[in-house]
Amino acid sequence: FVLRLLRSRVAVVRELAESWARRRIVVGAAIVRDGRLLVQQRARPAELAGRWELPGGRVEDGEDEQDAVVRECVEELGIGVRPRGRIGTDVPLGDHLLLRVHLARPADGATAAALEHRQVRWVGAAELGELDWLDADRVLVHSLRPLLR
Ligand code: C5P
Repeated sequence: FVLRLLRSRVAVVRELAESWARRRIVVGAAIVRDGRLLVQQRARPAELAGRWELPGGRVEDGEDEQDAVVRECVEELGIGVRPRGRIGTDVPLGDHLLLRVHLARPADGATAAALEHRQVRWVGAAELGELDWLDADRVLVHSLRPLLR
């Protein structure tokens, strides 16, 4: 009986691990320059409008995460960035998505524009906690603070 119970537990854990692995990755970009982080304010959908997030979005089929970071920064901000490795923990977004943040350095002299958002801002450590973050992004705030002034 104990063995059977153990086996069923193992099966449950395996199933959980597999469903986790099947999650689509949403990359976020932590773009830092001169001790400040680029944040953007959503314009839509209505229920998220006004809240703040890191640039980013879904990784497309066949795309790697770094390429997705670069693509999203061009689409959303019109700037080139160089991904510099993952930062912070993965954060589940509902049942099917996983937010994974990469540090990114902006190209020299690049000026970010809010191409799909209401506005973009560069914030320092003190302003980080004040923003009305999306829930998932808020989880990453403590990982980002040490990078800022
Ligand atoms: O931007 P996109 O629609 O591809 O993002 C997919 C999902 O990831 C959305 O539900 C969005 O709210 C979420 N997201 C997030 N934090 C980010 C970027 C996206 O929670 N920084």
